[in-house]
Amino acid sequence: MQYRTYGKQLGFKVSALGMGCMRLPRHLNGTGEGDVDTEKAIAMIRYAVDHGINYFDTAYGYHNKTSEAVLGEALEQDRYRDKVKIVTKQPFGVMTTQAEIRRNLENTLKKLRTDHIDVYLIHNIQKPDWEDIKKRKIIEEYEKFRAEGLIRGIAFSYHGLLPTFKEVLSFYPWDMCQIQQNFLDVEREATAEAIHLAGQKGTALVIMEPLRGGSLATPPAAVKAIYDAYPVKRSAVEWGFRHLINYPEISTILSGVTTLEQLKEDIEIFSKPDARPGCLNDTEKAILSRVRSHYESLASIPCTGCEYCLPCPNGVNIPGAFSKYNDGVMFGNFDPAKRSYSFLTMSNQDASLCAACGECEQKCPQHIDIIERLKMAHETLKA
Ligand code: SF4
Ligand code: SF4
Repeated sequence: MQYRTYGKQLGFKVSALGMGCMRLPRHLNGTGEGDVDTEKAIAMIRYAVDHGINYFDTAYGYHNKTSEAVLGEALEQDRYRDKVKIVTKQPFGVMTTQAEIRRNLENTLKKLRTDHIDVYLIHNIQKPDWEDIKKRKIIEEYEKFRAEGLIRGIAFSYHGLLPTFKEVLSFYPWDMCQIQQNFLDVEREATAEAIHLAGQKGTALVIMEPLRGGSLATPPAAVKAIYDAYPVKRSAVEWGFRHLINYPEISTILSGVTTLEQLKEDIEIFSKPDARPGCLNDTEKAILSRVRSHYESLASIPCTGCEYCLPCPNGVNIPGAFSKYNDGVMFGNFDPAKRSYSFLTMSNQDASLCAACGECEQKCPQHIDIIERLKMAHETLKA
């Protein structure tokens, strides 16, 4: 396992592979829902620690609010807690007072069976929430928690575009920021520019969705043929991870594993001696560019993400809605896209808010019939 520096402030050394606890194994019922299979999940978490992973990411809301408790149970015995960093996130939107914010943290500490959280995140900051977060003095509340020893680091997770990311990053000396990146998103979401900005500032950077919710693990035949033509044989999973391992600015790449086999494969990839920053040569970068182009050619709405159509007076995140729809088409599976679209719904940016004023259509250089396409995207992606 490779270990990396975690920004400039906390002095942590963390495994380059972190375990995300939002896709733990479950007892599935007929509808695809189900509670966590605690026995399997605990075995996987302890296997991860035994094989060098020292970074565990969870959130209050994951697995219907049970993920933290499963992680706490797995780490309680044999001093496993002392070997790892626990990182969790608080859903600021559902708590309206400072007392509720504190109660929520106390509840999380109980579930995690620990006296402190190593890094505590404001979960999923989005552009419309940012002013509210500042006004409600949530960061100041977290600083009190830190002074009391209940948390060590203060951080945020972010699903959104670069301008708001820049604003949030520069506002405060965060210990860490967590963003979505993978080789399809180098010019989307917060973009690869966010990686460089975090590195320049010395803020630890953690990556989520490195395989786009697992979609990049099962490529279409044309993509597989591109990978297979390269003399060094690698799985699609390894290509996806190596794109991120290549960046020296990234501290940890989270993998939300569901099976022990996936976990073993990930550990093997991250344990290779050359799984280090700078691991991609120019030929390999060109291969990933070709793969990206192929995926993009499958997208059905020709949105480039230029954002000329923004701001929408009703707050619709037009490129965000189109990108999630295109993901569903590209991967032939709308389930991850629906999950991702739900973030837009939670933050009042989804396509249902379109009032058909037509302002955006006049500004779109691709002449997309935005109003109709938004209706189609919403019908497909709504929960
Ligand atoms: S047409 Fe809809 S999406 Fe476009 S600017 Fe008007 S309200 Fe926003
Ligand atoms: S202006 Fe057109 S191409 Fe650009 S982000 Fe908006 S919808 Fe997409």
